[in-house]
Amino acid sequence: MARVVNANDFLIGKRCYWDDTPLSGQTVHLYKHSGGWKVRGFVDLQWLYVVCPKCGYQWALWKLGLSRTEEIEVNDLVAEA
Ligand SMILES: [Zn+2]
Repeated sequence: MARVVNANDFLIGKRCYWDDTPLSGQTVHLYKHSGGWKVRGFVDLQWLYVVCPKCGYQWALWKLGLSRTEEIEVNDLVAEA
């Protein structure tokens, strides 16, 4: 069994590289993407990102250090078509 990482917990302590704004507590956005993560509750792989509330930069979670070999669960998410 793969380790399951909670995406919301993963964001605790993460900050925007550009303006140092905390990214914890931000809603995780996801959409179907063949290069993405296995996410609980979704059949297809999903791309995961959060938006910096200050500058609007879309932080893909791999840029913040989340390995794509992990299985992900998300509490607070927005699924996009
Ligand atoms: Zn920012």
